[in-house]
Amino acid sequence: MKAIVYHGKEDMRVESVPDPGLQSSTDVLLRVERTAICGSDLHLWHLDSPLGTDGFVVGHEFLGTVEDVGHGVATIAKGDRVLVSCTIGCGRCASCRRGVYSGCSTASQGGTVTNVFGFSPVYNGGQAEAVRVPFADVNCFKVPEALSDDQCLFLTDILPTGFMGTELAEVGAGDRVVVFGCGPVGTFAQRCAQVRGAAQVIAVDPDAGRLARAAARGCEPIDPSREDVVARVLELTGGAGVDAAIEAVGRAELVAQAAMVTRAGGRVAVIGVILAPIEVPWPIFFNKNLSVRTGLVNPQVYIPHLLPLIESGRLDPTEIISHRLPLADGRRAYEMFAAHRDNVLKVVLTP
Ligand SMILES: [Zn+2]
Ligand SMILES: [Zn+2]
Repeated sequence: MKAIVYHGKEDMRVESVPDPGLQSSTDVLLRVERTAICGSDLHLWHLDSPLGTDGFVVGHEFLGTVEDVGHGVATIAKGDRVLVSCTIGCGRCASCRRGVYSGCSTASQGGTVTNVFGFSPVYNGGQAEAVRVPFADVNCFKVPEALSDDQCLFLTDILPTGFMGTELAEVGAGDRVVVFGCGPVGTFAQRCAQVRGAAQVIAVDPDAGRLARAAARGCEPIDPSREDVVARVLELTGGAGVDAAIEAVGRAELVAQAAMVTRAGGRVAVIGVILAPIEVPWPIFFNKNLSVRTGLVNPQVYIPHLLPLIESGRLDPTEIISHRLPLADGRRAYEMFAAHRDNVLKVVLTP
């Protein structure tokens, strides 16, 4: 089959690789119909593999039709159209039973962040014509008849991630919220804050195109390349600061800015991916009694809450799709996404 294979820094290649097969009785084999490139795939693009390996299939956002089913799978059948959680849980270990599938001790096989599709040879990813899905009863979710593939694709990762930002920051009715980042995850964090009844959503991003999209969604835009973010947020909130700040980029200085613009007793959520130790102005968090929460997403927890919001039309995840390309153009798609070329926001690939 054809797949996008990681070979090191800025080296993703569309190649022929062996077809995947079932390896365990709890696996299913999925024929991929849609897949997307994520900002976290760019960590692989920009850096050498965090796990020091190459030659694996990338991609953790995909959906498709079930082609083969292990005899231990109870709830998923051949022919089902399913979306798949990017983080793989076993459903039975202590972490999974607490709903922290990302910390699954069984699926991680002892590694760190190894239980995500497409980041290591442990689980090949879904930017491919087919993919093996372990613990299918836990990680596959049937796509409702009435919804399209495009409406459900982002439930695999970035929509639950954006929603998790608003959960961790406890965004509620009447809150003033700032979201750092207007990429796909930031966009969904802004949308989810609005759905939860935020009175004001402030969006920060230096990309003019992305900032204009945020303004069109009803956010108050701040361009950090032209304005003092802290002063401007305080101005927009009448000097009070926001109730909740969501960092959706993954940069230490934005975590610091989040603390500076949040009112005493407020909440800061960090959903951007930060892979190295960072320095933060801890006295600000301490003196202002700020709560800080972070973590890798558990789509399994949020998908049941988000599907009805899509079905009712209150969330339209397709709004972020800016480009559609065949899987065969995968390398070009990575180059475009990495360079922010052509006002790209989200690239969907079709095998
Ligand atoms: Zn992703
Ligand atoms: Zn588990």
